[in-house]
Amino acid sequence: MREPTEGDKFLDLFLLRMREPDYAIDQPYYTTGSIVAAALMRVSILGAASFLLSLYAQSNTVWWFAMLSLWGIGVYPAWMQYQRFHERVEKITAGTLCGACRHFNPTNQLCMVLDEHVTSEHPPCEGEAWEPK
Ligand code: SF4
Repeated sequence: MREPTEGDKFLDLFLLRMREPDYAIDQPYYTTGSIVAAALMRVSILGAASFLLSLYAQSNTVWWFAMLSLWGIGVYPAWMQYQRFHERVEKITAGTLCGACRHFNPTNQLCMVLDEHVTSEHPPCEGEAWEPK
């Protein structure tokens, strides 16, 4: 597994990816918490940038910058990432032992017995703690 570069870390901080990077294999890359937190950071920075722009540019320009950037960089990536998160949870729920277990929490993709994220078809408990829903 390759280590993330500085550029990767920057992209990960603001969650500026539509797909999980190849080094994110033992943790779910997208969670509802990380999606919301990154979207709030992006929106805050864009709000500040819009304010600064308003000191130098006409209001029309500021308005277009704010609307387009908030949608394109703030909200749309979060929506796409939530779709990816949802697809992944659906795949685990439908096709794995953990998906049929009462201890699997699909909201955060977590095994509640081991307090561990379920990231593959292989159950972290090896099936020993499995209980039907
Ligand atoms: S107890 Fe085992 S089967 Fe159930 S969710 Fe946890 S790891 Fe998966």
